Amino acid sequence: MNRQPVVIIGSGLAGYTLAREFRKLDGESALTIISTDHGGFYSKPMLSNAFAQNKSVAALLNKSAAQMADELKAEIITNAYVTSIDPAKRQLTLNDLTRCYSRLVLSVGADPIRLSLQGNGADAVLSVNDLDDYGRFRAAIEGKHEIVILGAGLIGCEFASDLAGAGYSVRVINPGTQVLGSLLPPQAGTFMQRRLEAKGIRFELGTTAQKVERVGDRLRLTLANGDAIEADAVLSAAGLRPRTSLAKAAGISVQRGIVVDAFLQTNLAAIYALGDCAEANGKVQPFVMPIMHGARALAATLTGNPTAVAYPHMPVTVKTPDCPTVIVPPEPDTAGEWSITEYEEGLGALFSGPDGTLLGFVVQGAATAEKNRLTQQLGHP
Ligand SMILES: Cc1cc2nc3c(=O)[nH]c(=O)nc-3n(C[C@H](O)[C@H](O)[C@H](O)COP(=O)(O)OP(=O)(O)OC[C@H]3O[C@@H](n4cnc5c(N)ncnc54)[C@H](O)[C@@H]3O)c2cc1C
Repeated sequence: MNRQPVVIIGSGLAGYTLAREFRKLDGESALTIISTDHGGFYSKPMLSNAFAQNKSVAALLNKSAAQMADELKAEIITNAYVTSIDPAKRQLTLNDLTRCYSRLVLSVGADPIRLSLQGNGADAVLSVNDLDDYGRFRAAIEGKHEIVILGAGLIGCEFASDLAGAGYSVRVINPGTQVLGSLLPPQAGTFMQRRLEAKGIRFELGTTAQKVERVGDRLRLTLANGDAIEADAVLSAAGLRPRTSLAKAAGISVQRGIVVDAFLQTNLAAIYALGDCAEANGKVQPFVMPIMHGARALAATLTGNPTAVAYPHMPVTVKTPDCPTVIVPPEPDTAGEWSITEYEEGLGALFSGPDGTLLGFVVQGAATAEKNRLTQQLGHP
């Protein structure tokens, strides 16, 4: 028996879901979780609908690292940055210490994409990708009123809706001319935009912020279209980039994310990747459901029962209460077309292939009642 522990780098949803699944199958083997952060367990999706509910950081923290260590019978090393991996020796380095592993799982997440902005206020632009970020942003907008969000993707729209729900005045700036442009057909984007506008959210589409300057304790943004906007705070929601540098330096194959096979194994023996940092079949899937399915399969693999991940259709729910939206996006570059049905209180968009097979859909408002029926109609993933 290998007495070195299974080591998981990262204490986010991927790291902790895997640890829980692992413990269901193996109550004894040594398990170590290493994290640069506090190591407490929280639900990241809650961060973009917590302002309207006035949730504090403490209210969002479900369990401390010590409680997680107890529950998982695991060693949890917090505030520790893994700086290198030596695959030949099955060792890693953190805080100038060397640790050994039997199997290693990289669940290191993704970094928010930093926009290149000019001006002496560029460093005041914040993003929210973890609980500490949420605390910082909450402190920055305490007692303030006007907020600009950079990006009208899923996270940008959710924060816009949540902050408007909390009483803030919100403007969203987006380079594309449509909200949720990578996930929705144009009519569904318009439906979402109208619903959010009805809540008081203003959109500046088809332009970008170029410069952010401090004006007293406020910020002035200069846009590419020449407009200038003032705000109390600016939140960037410009997307995420998988954290790959640690893996790359260790000789692990990296494209957009850390490349894994159907068993979530990298090109190197005994090293796996799961969550926002991983790329399988050319796709990074930065959502909870792929983590759940991946964690179950990887736990089986790590406990001696090699198991390939089989992903079912995984609908994405957009947490905009004024415009409930569920999406199963068609695979990129799939042949087919959208057909749209608009109802008084909703919209349904079906993406069908040349032979009529349903390959994806969007349901909004009252049409979300159809999500289970449509998911069942989809062909095999
Ligand atoms: C605001 C927001 C709302 C979302 N809402 C939804 C939703 O409604 N539905 C949905 O499906 N998905 C949603 N998502 C996406 C979902 O939350 C993520 O896919 C998921 O939480 C990613 O988990 P992870 O463990 O891969 O990454 P993370 O949670 O980012 O964890 C990464 C961990 O790795 C650690 N780490 C990184 N580098 C090192 C290192 N070198 N050494 C040691 N530790 C390291 C970090 O400290 C951290 O603990 C949302 C995301 C955001 C930001």
